[in-house]
Amino acid sequence: MRLLILVLISFSIHGYSKNVQEGYQIKDDFFKYKKLFEMHPEIVIDHIDSEDFEVYGPKGLGIWLDDLGIQKEILIDDLIVKNSEFLEGYPNFNQVESFLKEQAAKYPKIAKLFSIGKSVNGRDLWVIKISDNVELDEKEPEFKYISSMHGNEITGRELTQFLIKDLLEAYGKDEKITKLINSTEIYIMPSMNPDGSEKKRRGNARYVDLNRDFPDWTAGEANDYRGRQPETIAVMKFQAQRNFSLSANFHGGAVCVNYPWDSSYTRHPLDNFLQYISKEYSYLNEEMKNSRYFEDGITNGADWYVLKGGMQDWSYIWHNDLQVTVELSGTKWPSYSRIPSYYKDNKASMIRYLELVHQGAGFYLSDSAVNGKVKVVSLDEDKVIGEFNFQHGEFYKVLPTGTYKYLITGDNFNFEKIYEVTESGQLERIEL
Ligand SMILES: [Zn+2]
Repeated sequence: MRLLILVLISFSIHGYSKNVQEGYQIKDDFFKYKKLFEMHPEIVIDHIDSEDFEVYGPKGLGIWLDDLGIQKEILIDDLIVKNSEFLEGYPNFNQVESFLKEQAAKYPKIAKLFSIGKSVNGRDLWVIKISDNVELDEKEPEFKYISSMHGNEITGRELTQFLIKDLLEAYGKDEKITKLINSTEIYIMPSMNPDGSEKKRRGNARYVDLNRDFPDWTAGEANDYRGRQPETIAVMKFQAQRNFSLSANFHGGAVCVNYPWDSSYTRHPLDNFLQYISKEYSYLNEEMKNSRYFEDGITNGADWYVLKGGMQDWSYIWHNDLQVTVELSGTKWPSYSRIPSYYKDNKASMIRYLELVHQGAGFYLSDSAVNGKVKVVSLDEDKVIGEFNFQHGEFYKVLPTGTYKYLITGDNFNFEKIYEVTESGQLERIEL
């Protein structure tokens, strides 16, 4: 009976498996329960390791677990917020917003702050752009970091703020950073779920898990906005306006880099390369690299646990944007006093990963109004990497070093280009 009630409640609230009103940590072997949970699409499983895992779901989940005799510890969250020791030291939303405004005001030539939309409770979804000639849309590879789409996974929100400050301060002083800012359009969004973070909650104000709210390619869903949350829609629209080719998505609750696919056991066409870029991140972080649970500090998403409707798979399937998920801290909401040391452990990785956006090849057409398609073929491996849409007359793709053929088609043109991808990449202008 309880099973039925649980299913009914969840379906009546949101229709499918992204309502996360209750959350529990279970200190037990996940594989004992794998079959049971797989029968319940309304339940979200997260952060499985050898010692424990987390279960989220609609109201009634705790009672259901109790009925099954499963020992659990409560994870969510709104209650804990009243206990201020957890929050001590952390800025609130208004303070994060003020910090970003200050940084943009202090470095107007290389930083620009803008909101890509509003959360359910009307908070701005801030993104900072860092680049030379920041007001212009230059022909440069585009990169982004997004953090804390799970509101209670707070470490990345703080670390991205530290990174913003350090990048801006280093401009004109540090040669490597200056070059990076001059040659890249860097976008950083410290807080994709500000309502969730204000409540120390995984879901947004409506308890929806935003990392289950994107179109699911394995279910044949269209890339549209219907039935999605405002935070998800804001990111989807932002992504559609830009040409990101590399990105990462910061979470917490484990320490590793998780690469696509999340939603299918099939291997990504760039599987080896994804492992390479994930290691470029993990190898510069001692704790990650030496992980006892994840070899080299990295894991394929689905091998860890399958999730549907995540941002990582979506960004590549629809937008040619290679994205990994970085799990920054074993504790989702650590004591604030530990944040500086997490930053110290991740700073070099964050900068190294950002540099990787330059390992690719692309073009921009003399007519910036043109859209079309590019089929990318690896000549070294004699295989098709994929076929991608391009817009605004621009296309750029991050790739393993090697030689590639691009078959470029539009309404009234059709031509081929051969590109040699090196670590410093190339981006050429083509006259139509
Ligand atoms: Zn997460």
